[in-house]
Amino acid sequence: MPTDSFANVGQMLRQLRPVQPVYCIYPKRYKASTASFVGGFPGRVLYAVKANDDPRILSLLYESGIRHFDCASLPEVSRVAGLFPDASCYFMIPVRLRGAAAAAQRQYGVRHFVIDHDAGLETLAREIDLPGSVIFARMAVHHKSAVSDLSAKFGAAPALIPSLIESIAACGAEPALAFNVGSSVTDPDAYRYAIGVAAGVLETLPRKLRLVDIGGGFAMPYPGFPVPPLAEYFAAVRDAMTALPLSENGEILCEPGRALAAPGLTAVVEVLMRKDDRLFLNDGIYGIFWELNLKGHDRYPAIAYRDGRPLYGSQRDFRLYGPTCDNIDVLPGAVGLPADIRAGDYIEFSGIGAYSLSGRTSFNGHYSDTVVTIEAD
Ligand SMILES: *Cc1c(COP(=O)(O)O)cnc(C)c1O
Repeated sequence: MPTDSFANVGQMLRQLRPVQPVYCIYPKRYKASTASFVGGFPGRVLYAVKANDDPRILSLLYESGIRHFDCASLPEVSRVAGLFPDASCYFMIPVRLRGAAAAAQRQYGVRHFVIDHDAGLETLAREIDLPGSVIFARMAVHHKSAVSDLSAKFGAAPALIPSLIESIAACGAEPALAFNVGSSVTDPDAYRYAIGVAAGVLETLPRKLRLVDIGGGFAMPYPGFPVPPLAEYFAAVRDAMTALPLSENGEILCEPGRALAAPGLTAVVEVLMRKDDRLFLNDGIYGIFWELNLKGHDRYPAIAYRDGRPLYGSQRDFRLYGPTCDNIDVLPGAVGLPADIRAGDYIEFSGIGAYSLSGRTSFNGHYSDTVVTIEAD
């Protein structure tokens, strides 16, 4: 066994007694969750790399059947292409650094891009070869069940989509349609609704499109944040997509980030100090927990460890503080933990793979690079 691989978290703690936070990849969890997503979704699954771009996690997703990657920058394209020469990268953001689309196409063979305005089409058209490229027109759709609205910054109103599609076709690329219902979409009906809006727009077009990308947003459950199982989202999509007037070889695409990234990662942190019902940890809101600053869930499932073994016993709620000087470095939700937890114990937070490793900072000098593999289920 390589030294960064352990049978379970207890063994890791007994061997390392780590001072820094340790991020634990559970390959079996990633493989099972990815395979069930790819098997259940009625179309092509693109992984949204920004949710977690750790190369080990990208490799597990690839091994579990992901061959398409939704990238938001040239470095993301370069990372994916470097790991998996036979994978396809899609450059699915309507604004890019100057020259990035050109480099993505010339160096990495990227053929799929997105725009949401004529201004963006002009810029893109100067950088890529249009024949052989697919350009998605991104439509804004809002639904109340999305915790964060992904149509506030990007997306053209549905009424503007037909002319964007015609502009794309006129410049020689294949037009397609994309939208994003939101992130952490708590109601599968949001997809039914958005696909319905898309169907209404497509019906008015003089041509049939081949590809419709319904975006990401598939929600994951967290404590205090229950959501329907993925199967209900897939059923809603399967049902609604029958109304889409697609061309004969038509296909729908999705871009899950959270649903693929979240399940297989945990963070194991040490309790540095206890003051009554307040615990001070070696990781915080500037580190692995940064996503808790956003709307949505306010905590992760947690179990405590003492002397390398799970610690059970009657529980009480604790407020959890990070290691920095800053007042806001406190996790928003209280977390139930054994009432006698103390400094030197560890806490493992699970389901923490989405928007955690990517996006944390080294504020106050805290930044752990310890990522290990756990063989347990
Ligand atoms: C962030 C994002 C995603 C992934 O969203 P999740 O909520 O993590 O599934 C997909 N597509 C686009 C365009 C995004 O911006």
